[in-house]
Amino acid sequence: MRMRSKLTLILLIAGLFSAGTVGAIANWLVMRDFQQSVMDRAYDNFQEDVRRYLAIYGDWNNAAQQEAFHDFVRRHRAYPPPPDSGREPGRPAIDRRQQAPFRFIVLDPEGRVLKGLEEYPQGSMADPALLSRTRPVIHNGSVAVRIAPVGEPPPPPSDREYVAAMRKALAVGIAVAVLFALLIGVIAGERISSSIRALTEAIRGMRKNRETALEVEVKSRDEIGEMAQAFNQMSLELSRAHRELRRSSEMVQQQAQKLRELSIRDPLTHLFNRRHFEEQAHTLYQQAVRYQQPLTVMLGDLDHFKRINDNCSHAVGDEVLRQVSRLLSEGIRKSDLLARYGGEEFVILFPNSSLEQALHCCENLRRRIESHPWGDLHPGLEVTMSMGLCGKLALGNAERMVAEADQRLYAAKHRGRNRVVSRSGEAA
Ligand code: GH3
Ligand code: MG
Ligand code: MG
Repeated sequence: MRMRSKLTLILLIAGLFSAGTVGAIANWLVMRDFQQSVMDRAYDNFQEDVRRYLAIYGDWNNAAQQEAFHDFVRRHRAYPPPPDSGREPGRPAIDRRQQAPFRFIVLDPEGRVLKGLEEYPQGSMADPALLSRTRPVIHNGSVAVRIAPVGEPPPPPSDREYVAAMRKALAVGIAVAVLFALLIGVIAGERISSSIRALTEAIRGMRKNRETALEVEVKSRDEIGEMAQAFNQMSLELSRAHRELRRSSEMVQQQAQKLRELSIRDPLTHLFNRRHFEEQAHTLYQQAVRYQQPLTVMLGDLDHFKRINDNCSHAVGDEVLRQVSRLLSEGIRKSDLLARYGGEEFVILFPNSSLEQALHCCENLRRRIESHPWGDLHPGLEVTMSMGLCGKLALGNAERMVAEADQRLYAAKHRGRNRVVSRSGEAA
């Protein structure tokens, strides 16, 4: 159930309960007051009847012998007619037929029953509870008798209508109060839940984008306001922490990338190093075998490089290595794998290339190196490279092919250098 519905329901239940309680208490108070007022009137009437009775006959015992009290009352008082024949004006309307269980008993001042009922027979002594409810009838300046009501007096018809009207008014009042409670419940529920909703949405937003600090409006100083403030603070700190985290993670990634580059590159020429070449060559060899594609390996070695170092300088030697690397890189396809194999040795793996295609490419490379204007680097400098090729996939792995290429490189050196040897016993 949503927060708004819960709050509305709680306020509605509280409203219903309060209105019901108020209604019940009000009804009880009204009924009590009515009964009291009816009782008072009944007392007054009976007191008056007894007073008259005694005024005529002296004391009660004498009076009872002369005329029964109820005959006296019947004679002297006109009782209201039955309900369908209209109301007697003047005295309060008490329909005795409707108040059968409600009667008065008469006691002497000491509490002996003079005129009793079934439960209080004549001549018996009244108990203290009954005595406490008695009222005196004064005759000739002293208490002649005491009278006490037995039973609950029903309200007269006019009062009943009044009570019914009061009850109706109370019911309407309760209904209006409940409606108000519902209205207040809906409004208060909406107000409170809108603040909580804003917070919930902000939390969802924060989960989507953790780097942006979100701010919810602080509308109040209550707990929800405090929550909003705490959320704003938390969101700010969290977004900072996330940005920091992203920055350091990027840094770590960059450094890892750098390390990876360092681990696979040769620092002087920036070509791949031998270890990386061997890893890649293994994979490329497997692919060539699997897809039955040709694969050729070239191993090249700069001729008399020691002399270059000796005659020019080690720095010139390094620069020769860098420029040869560039010439080789520019003369091959992107898919070919070039690496610095050793000091002044280079290796190229030509995937999907036959021995003839690789031979053609290597011849071009050889010529490029030979014809490069080395004199610009150092007067009289000449640089050439000898190369050995191997395209025998049947050798079983890339290392064996490199070893075979090395043998042909050796042959190229042996046959005068600055040449490419692709077959045993031949010079290109
Ligand atoms: P060959 O034609 O038979 O290959 O003769 P070479 O002089 O090239 O062969 P050798 O193996 O005798 O000499 C290779 C030289 O390469 C020796 C070494 O000092 C030099 N060298 C190896 N690595 C580097 C490097 O990184 N920089 C420089 N400047 N020289 C290097
Ligand atoms: Mg060498
Ligand atoms: Mg050499």
